[in-house]
This record gives sequence, structure tokens and C-alpha cells, in this order.
Amino acid sequence: MSAFVRNILLMISLATSFAACDATLAAETEASGCCAAPQDRQFHADTAGGFFSKLFDASDYPARWYCGSWTLETGWLHVISDLAIFGAYFTIPLVLLYFLRQRPDLPFPKIIWLFAAFILACGFGHLVEAGIFWWPIYRFSGVIKAVTAIVSWITVLVLIRMLPDVLNLPSLAILGQQLRIANKRLDSALEAGNIGVWEWDVDSDRFAADERAQQMHGITAADRITTLVSFIDSLHEDDREELRDAICRCLSDITNCSINYRLYDAQGSIRYIQAHGKIVLGENGKPKKLVGVCIDQTELTEYHNEVEKLSLVASGTRHSVVITDQYGAIEWVNNAFIKLTGYTSEEVMGRKPGEFLQGPETNQGTVEIIRKALRADRQVSAELLNYAKDGRPYWIALEIEPVFDDENRLRHYIATQVDITEQVRRTDELIEAMESAETANHAKSQFLANMSHEIRTPLNGIIGFTDLLMYEAYSSPEEKQEFLQTVRSSGLHLLTLINGILDLAKIESGQMSVERSPCSPQEILDEVVSIFRPKVNEKGLKFACRWDSKVPKQVVTNGPQLKQLLLNVVGNAVKFTNEGQVEIVARLRECPVGSQLTIDVIDTGIGIPDDKLDEIFHPFSQADSSVTRRFGGTGLGLAISKNLAEMLGGSIEVKSVEGEGSVFTVIVDAGVMPEEKHPATRLGDETAPCVLKDSNLPNLNGVRILAVDDGDANRRFMSVVLDHAGAEVWTAENGKEAVRFAATQTPEVILLDMQMPVMDGYTAASLIRLQGFEGPIIAVTAHAMQGDREKCLESGCSEYLSKPLGRDELLHTVAFAVHDYRLQLAEQNRNV
Ligand code: ADP
Repeated sequence: MSAFVRNILLMISLATSFAACDATLAAETEASGCCAAPQDRQFHADTAGGFFSKLFDASDYPARWYCGSWTLETGWLHVISDLAIFGAYFTIPLVLLYFLRQRPDLPFPKIIWLFAAFILACGFGHLVEAGIFWWPIYRFSGVIKAVTAIVSWITVLVLIRMLPDVLNLPSLAILGQQLRIANKRLDSALEAGNIGVWEWDVDSDRFAADERAQQMHGITAADRITTLVSFIDSLHEDDREELRDAICRCLSDITNCSINYRLYDAQGSIRYIQAHGKIVLGENGKPKKLVGVCIDQTELTEYHNEVEKLSLVASGTRHSVVITDQYGAIEWVNNAFIKLTGYTSEEVMGRKPGEFLQGPETNQGTVEIIRKALRADRQVSAELLNYAKDGRPYWIALEIEPVFDDENRLRHYIATQVDITEQVRRTDELIEAMESAETANHAKSQFLANMSHEIRTPLNGIIGFTDLLMYEAYSSPEEKQEFLQTVRSSGLHLLTLINGILDLAKIESGQMSVERSPCSPQEILDEVVSIFRPKVNEKGLKFACRWDSKVPKQVVTNGPQLKQLLLNVVGNAVKFTNEGQVEIVARLRECPVGSQLTIDVIDTGIGIPDDKLDEIFHPFSQADSSVTRRFGGTGLGLAISKNLAEMLGGSIEVKSVEGEGSVFTVIVDAGVMPEEKHPATRLGDETAPCVLKDSNLPNLNGVRILAVDDGDANRRFMSVVLDHAGAEVWTAENGKEAVRFAATQTPEVILLDMQMPVMDGYTAASLIRLQGFEGPIIAVTAHAMQGDREKCLESGCSEYLSKPLGRDELLHTVAFAVHDYRLQLAEQNRNV
């Protein structure tokens, strides 16, 4: 632009000098064609008014043709040249003014106006010069020249003033070079970005695209895409409408537009193009053009689609996924991670997972293994305890995979985490269950070893001493008595053992019921003391029992169960104490809603290690099996006692110092007993004798009894006892024999074992009843569990005795049964 101005100014200055020269020439010509010699010329003066009134008065001058001796050729040369110059000088301003109008952006428009005026003035000068050949209006010609002179000097002055500004303008060559450089730079940038350029002329609907844009759209010369419509028609059919709408919006709102569209390339594959357009307004302020660029986004779009797909998969998976940069800082996490940890993605971005997910119980060894693997750019799998935002611990199966780029540079780590909390919990439970099963198994093995020992010990006594009884040499009456005592006590011990197992089985299966009734705690303690007195005396221990409170006459509890509990605890105290004393201290504590009976059993025995104090209450557990094996025992006593105490509404606690002794405290609910209490008394001191009461045995004279049992010893025992009591006794080995016997003979009472070969007692009892037998059938069975009694009664038995049978129990039961039956018969006879 500025170069152009420079050129114009150059032209103007040339023209100005040319015109000046032109004027000089005319003056010379005129002078040479003068009609009179200079010495003859008389000059007269014009007034200003006279001059302008005679502006077109040609009377004072001859026509130029007549001034001088013009040849025709020379005259017409002047005339035609002047006219031609006028024509040119008239046209030049017109062109300049048109130019100015078309390029209103040009700088220095004033100088162009001046130049146009100057040229026009010159042109008029030449026109007048041509006319003077016929019409010598020299005054007007002078005015025109004066005007031309004024305009040319104004132009000169303006030019001089403009000069510094004009000189500052870059030259056309520099501008051209700059333009070329800028163009080249722009082109390189467009090429580097693979950006095409397009243009659409709104009025003419002419659409044009540069080479890159054409290539991008697969446009060839043959396609003849010259209008916007033809361009849009070459695109993917689904995107045409949208593109049209976008352009319409852009035109109506006069805004820039950006749009993505698709097209098919020559191979039929889809290409994704992104275009940005800008509205260029015309002079009228209306959109004149839409120019813009287009970029081939196919690779990027396909990459994005791929990433989107992967991201969708990673987001959708129920396992948590974390992507970090090569330094381990989190770049992306999926929803499962957010759900599992409770952190938002903003909270974890840029942080290292280990910094906020690990906690106090996270295994540092595992963490170190993970770190080592990552330092070596290796894949790593591990199970780890992590912590959620709220502090909740959870287990994860973690897999971390390093991701490398094409040049094998580490770019990312992808970590997948599967929540295995539930799995770990189940495994822990399983391990715990296995361990406790192993412990139980171990305890049971120990128990079996103890049982074996415990069973063999009394059996040894029974078998050994019965052997001795068979030999005359050892059988002095005193010895006999002593051996028999041992056999009996061994048998009783066996019974205790079996009862213990049964009790525990009953308690554990929930079959032991607690029936409470008033009973005397003093009597219970008395019995317990009397039972252990012989043992205590034998060991040379002091044995004391006292009340720390008033002695209640009665309490409401289950007497037999309380007794059993105390037998266990006191029995242990006696068993594990070799010197010193065993003391029983009882007290009753009353409260508004009832009372509590507390019994301390204090010994100076071997004591119990601290770590075993809880364990000894578990079934089959013994504080030290080697020690206890020495003392004997089954490991059942305290387990039973604890259960019994709890069933009786209380508890059992222990304090012990190893090597010094133990205090077992038994607490039971004693119910509400408003009865008077005796003052505290001291029971059973160490000198009190052991009293075993003998019973008054019933007389069974003449009672006919059928004793049925498949065991010889049992049949023999029943025969001997009943026979001694005066009864008439028959025996049978199974149910079938019993049924047959009952049908032919007339027994008054039947003692019936329930588990026998050939026919069991249940079947036999029902058949005997069907035969019309109405006398007592007493079930004698080793099945001593709850429900067994009912089962026997249902089958037709009238009484129930559990094995092992005691002499007294057998005789009393039979005697009562016979008594009742005879009363019943008498009643019936009276009624008849
Ligand atoms: P056991 O038949 O072995 O005595 P218990 O269940 O009654 O079974 O007792 C469990 C264990 O508790 C005993 O083996 C013994 O180790 C310990 N124990 C119980 N009472 C005492 C006590 N008074 N002194 C020392 N140890 C005791």
C-alpha cells in the first residue's frame, strides 16, 4: 500500500515538472509567433474589473494562426498535441478518483485529490492553448495557468510536508518480501498443522478451497465443487443438515462457527474433519464471505474413540483401576476406585496411592516388594491391606503393570485392584475354624488319652482286685472287705467319668433343664464336705467350711446341680492340693429382688498359670496336661461347672497364683426366701468323721421277678440282689425270650434292658403289654440321655432305671413298683 503511494507521488512530481516545462514551451512558442517587433510594442494596463470582464474577449489579440508564419503542419501539430494532452489530462484525474473511491483504505488521499486537480488544470491549459489558434482568449489562458500554478505549488508544499511520512513508508520491494515471508510462514504453519483453507462468497455462492483442503476432502478437478451446495453434497449424508444449519446460524448471528463432519475417502473409509469459519462483512455490514480452515481429525478422533472405549471399559469394570504417570502420581481413577475408597477423583489426582491408602496395619514387607518391582519396571501382584477415606480397612488383590511407549520409555503404571476383603475374612475364618478344629481335635486327643488313663485306672482296680478276691491266699475277711471297697470305689469313679461326659453332652445339646425348688445350702455343703473328708484326711490336709453371713435355712435353686458344681470345684481343690488346706467360705447376699449365694473354694495347691485361667473352663482343657495327668481328671469338670453356674443364674470365677493356690468363686442365684436365717456357724471342721449312711433295704419276699438283660454280669447282679431281698427271680437274655416267658409264666415285675440282640426292650415291652400283662415293667438301660425315659414309657414300661444300677436303687424301685401295683390291684378288686 505504502509503495503504491510512493509511486503515485513519484508520478505526481514527474507530472508537475513536466507541466512546468510544458508551460515554458507554450510561452516560448507564443513569443516566437508574436505579431509585432518588441521595440514597436506599446503596453497598456488592465484594471482588475476590466481584466475579468474581458476574460473571453479576443479582440485585443490576433488568432495564433495569424501570429507568426505558421506552416500548416506545425500549427496542427500543436493543436492536435494540445488536444491529445487535454484528453489524457482529463482522463487521468477521473481514473485517479475512481481508484481513490475503490481503495478508500489508501493513505494520503489528499495528495491524490491535489494531483488530480493539478493534472486537470494542466489539461485545461492545453485545451485553451489549442483554442487560441482560432480564439485568442489570452486573459482566460493566463487565469488557467495561474490556477495551475497555484494548484501545483500547493501540491509541492503538501508533498514537502508529506515527505518525512512518505520516506518512512517501507518500499514496495520490502513490503513484497515481507509479504512473501509472511505468506511462506503461514503456509508452513498450515502445512505443519495439515490445515486447509477455504472460502465461500455469500453473494456469488462461490466456494473455493486451497490444495490441502481439497486433498483433505478428496476433491479433484473433475468433481467441480465450486458452490457451497456442491461441497455440502460431497459430505456424509448424516452430517449435511447439521452443517447447513451451522452455516445459517453463523450467517444470521454473524458469529464464528465450528463444526465437525464426516466424509468418505476414495477407499470408502470415514474421515473426520473439523472446520472453523469466520464471517467477513461487506461494506453494507452484511455477511460477504465465510472464510475458514479445516483440519483432518481422523486419527485424533479414532484415537479418542479408542480411548473412550477403553475408558468406558475401565470405568465400567467393578474392579478399581488407577492410572499413574511414570513417577506414580495418579492421573486417572475409575468409579469403582472412588466407590471403594470414598475419595473423589479431585482429591486423589497427582497424589501417590501409597501415601493415602496405606495405614498402620498395611504389611510393610509387601509394600517394599511392590516398590522394588516398580523400581525395576516389573509387573507386580500382591495382596495388601488398604484404608478407605473413612478409615475402613479393606483388602485388595493388587496388580500393577508398567506401560511403555514405542521407544520403550516408561510412561504410566496401570493398577487394578480387586476388593478381596470378604474373601480374606472367609479365609481368616476358615483358618480360625481350622485352628480351633485342630485345637479341639488336639484337646479331644488329649481327652481320649486322659479318658483312657482314667478308665483304665478304675478298671485296673476292679479287675486287679476281683482277681485277688478269686484267690484264697489274699482273701482274709479284712482283705476281702478292703478289696471290695476298692472295686466299688473304682466302679463309682468310672460312673463319675461317664456322668461327666453325659452331663456335658446334655448341657451342650441344651437338654439339661433347671428346675428350682427350695433346698438347704447347708445340707448340700455338708454332703460335699463329707464326700471329700476321707480324701482330705488321706492327704493330711486341713479342711474347713464356714459361713461369712447368716446361714440361710433354704435357698431356691436346683440342689442337685449346685451340689454337682461344688463337687467339681471342691474336688479339684482337694485333688490339686498336696499340703496346706482347702477352705470353703459361703455367704448369702440379699438384695431387694432376690438373693445371691456365693461360695469361695480356697486352696493352697499347685495354682494355675495366668495364661490358662480362661482356658481351663473350656471342655477338655487342662492347665498342664503333664501335671494334671499326675492328678487325674478329664478336663470336663470346670466346663460343666461353668455351664451349671450360668444355668443357676450366676457364674464361676477364678483367681490363682501358680505354686501358691487358687480361689474359685461360685455364685448362684438363691431366689427370694423370706425365711429366718440361722446365725453363722462353722461346718465340718478337720476332725469331723466321714459319715456314710446305710439304708433300710426293702423286703421282696415272694415277689416274682423276670430280669431280662443280654449282659451276663447284669443278669447275675440283679439275680443276686433281688434273691437276697427274698424275691423269686427268673432271667432271660433278650426280648423274645422275655415275651415268651411272660406269656407262659406269671411274673409280678419285669426288669427289662432296652438294648438287646434278637429283640430289643421297646418291642418286647409293647408285645408283653399286648399279651395283657399289667404289672410293672421297669426299663433298665444305659441310655441315660433326656428323652430316653419318655421313649421307654411310651413303649409300655412303667418305671425307668439308668445303668449302672446300685443295689439300693434297684431294690427300692422294685419295692415301690410292687407296692403301687398291689395297691392298684386291691383297689380294682374292691371295685369289682
Ligand atoms: P479335671 O478333670 O482335669 O480336673 P477340670 O475341668 O475340673 O478338669 O479342671 C480343668 C483344669 O483346671 C485342671 O486340669 C487343672 O489343670 C486346673 N484346675 C482346676 N482346679 C484347680 C485347682 N484348684 N488348682 C489347680 N489347678 C486347677
